[in-house]
Parts: sequence; C-alpha cells; structure tokens
Amino acid sequence: MIPFLDLKEINMRHVKEIQEALNKVLHSGWYILGKEVELFEKEYGEYCGTEHCIGVANGLDALSLIIKAYGFGEGDEIIVPSNTYIASILAISYNGATPILVEPDPTTFNIDPTKIEKKITAKTKAFMVVHLYGQSCDMDPICNLAEKYNLKIIEDCAQAHGAIYNGKRVGNLGHAAGFSFYPGKNLGALGDAGAITTNDEELATRIRAIRNYGSHKKYFNMFKGVNSRLDELHAAVLRVKLPYLDQDNESRREIAKFYLDNISNHRISLPRYEFGEKSHVWHLFVIRSEEREKLQQYLSERGIQTLIHYPIPPHKQEAYKEWIGHQYDISELLHQQVLSLPISPVMSLDEAKIVVEALNDYK
Ligand SMILES: *Cc1c(COP(=O)(O)O)cnc(C)c1O
Repeated sequence: MIPFLDLKEINMRHVKEIQEALNKVLHSGWYILGKEVELFEKEYGEYCGTEHCIGVANGLDALSLIIKAYGFGEGDEIIVPSNTYIASILAISYNGATPILVEPDPTTFNIDPTKIEKKITAKTKAFMVVHLYGQSCDMDPICNLAEKYNLKIIEDCAQAHGAIYNGKRVGNLGHAAGFSFYPGKNLGALGDAGAITTNDEELATRIRAIRNYGSHKKYFNMFKGVNSRLDELHAAVLRVKLPYLDQDNESRREIAKFYLDNISNHRISLPRYEFGEKSHVWHLFVIRSEEREKLQQYLSERGIQTLIHYPIPPHKQEAYKEWIGHQYDISELLHQQVLSLPISPVMSLDEAKIVVEALNDYK
C-alpha cells in the first residue's frame, strides 16, 4: 500500500534527536514559556526573515490572536478566500468580524487577486490570504491593494512553511502571519502547536501578552487575554526538525516534479505554480477530475491512498447557515473535483512511479 502520508516514518528519521530533546525538557523542570520556546521563536523568526516570532498553542489560535491583537471584531469585514480550510474563516468569526469570501483561481487554487477590489467596503479592515496546499499567493497585486486602501494583510501560512515569493519567505509577505505545526504539516510537532510571525513590534508585544492571559508580568493583566502558549516539549521537537525543513520541502518538490512531468492522462488536470519552483512547498499535490469518486475508488483498488481537501466548501457548512443560498461557483466546482495524491519527504520515486502508472492507465 502507498500511504497518503507516513507520519511515523517522518518522525522516526530523527528518533534519537527527538528523544534527547524531550529528555532535556523533562529533566529541566521548566515546562511552559522557557528556553526552548524562546530559542525556537528566535530560530523560526530568522528562518522566515521576520523580526518577531511568537509561539502559540495551534494554527487557529495564531490567526485568531492576530485579529484580536489588531482589535478587529463586530462590524469589521475581513476578506478571505472562499476555498480554504475552515480554520482561516473560523479565526475571523471567532473575533466577531465578518468573513467576506473571494473566489480562487481554479488552476492555482489560491485567491484570485483580480476579484478582491470589488469586495472592499468602508468596513473592510484586512485581507486574510491563504497560501493553500503550500503555494504562495500572488502577493504583489494584493499588497498594492492593501496599501491603496490602508488595510492589513494577514497570511495563513499553515500549509506553506518555507515557500518563497520574490526572494522572501511566506510569513514575511504581509503585516502578520499565522503558522500551524499540527503533526501533518510540512513542519510538524508531536501534537498541536503554532506561531505568529511579524515585523510589527507593537503587535508582537501585544500578542505576547494576549497568549498568556493578557499579562507581561505575572498577575498584572493589561488585556483580557487567553491561554494559548507553545509548550516547551513541542518547541524542543520543532527545534530538532526545523534544520531539515528545506531539505524536506526539496524532497516534496522532487515528487511533485515527477508527477507533473509524467502524469499524461488528459482526463486529469494538474496543479499549476506561478512564481518559480521555490514558491511551492507541496504540502499537498492536488489534481482535479470530473469523476473524482470513481478515480479515488480506482486508486484505492490499486493500493494508493488519496484524500480530499476539502469535500465541502466553507459556505456550505452547517456552521455557516447564514450563507445558505450564496453561490461561489469556482469553489463549489473545486470541492467536487479535487483529489490529493500521496506526497511527503519520505515517499520514494519508485512509489511515485506506481502512482503515475495507475493514473496513466485510468480509463
Ligand atoms: C491546519 C490549518 C490551519 C489550522 O491549524 P491548527 O494548528 O490545526 O489549528 C489553519 N489554516 C489552514 C489553511 C490549515 O491548513
């Protein structure tokens, strides 16, 4: 069987180093907001090229705390792509702000910058862009619009650790960015973890307090904060894995390139990337098929595990009843057609060859 993603194998490559890191934390006697978090924040900020990095409990909190720290809420609108993982949109709703959905480009799956301007109103406060499946959005036109209307750009980088656009890494392309280190992401912890990157010192200072009960100093509370801290244990594991991230992304690129060069069945649409090889870190390799269910069944019979990201668009979810009757044709079409092929840094080219052969044999 070719698994979609072998998480155990991904981590077993570093088993000794991870065990040592966990042991070090265990024996240190200090488990929350200590040296490991501090060092990881420094190292991950440097990796992204931002001045500040703040560890938090997960990716959803990272996005939601940015919005909270900016003070966006009731009566404010935030523009977000209509096809994204629900967390991007939940982060907006959670703060009481209104998500305004914009359709994607169907070949890159990312927000279509030409469709943003007509959704801007007097209530718009920010764009939340999502570098979906690991590919950087087309940021130049988005940054121009943000400047023209004086809006903030919040990046959802949960799927795109390390992707580079115009020489800069994602997480350093807007005003603030949220990352997830959920175990299956390109950089994954052994549980929930997340981070915020930014060059805005004032924002960073506020977020540092908000993640810790709104307090910079124990028992002095400046904000009505939350408890959303990155654990020392997770930070220690992330510090072990960060030095391998670029190499892992390169291995993903090799698989992606092999798929792109060799899948020749005209009934399958391949993903497109726009801004050079490094702009995509291939968190997911997503193809489109008009007979997605049949194709998935066929691949499963050939021993190839695939997943669907995602089967139901956010505006069709029970949780967002207020959008009943709203139509987002491109998103709806994508959610019917997308299928994610196996891809990971521990997948071999021999395995990729089996996937390609199966797809090319498909009638
Ligand atoms: C995973 C993910 C998140 C949320 O991250 P968690 O750590 O699971 O909270 C947000 N946005 C996108 C696009 C994601 O893929």
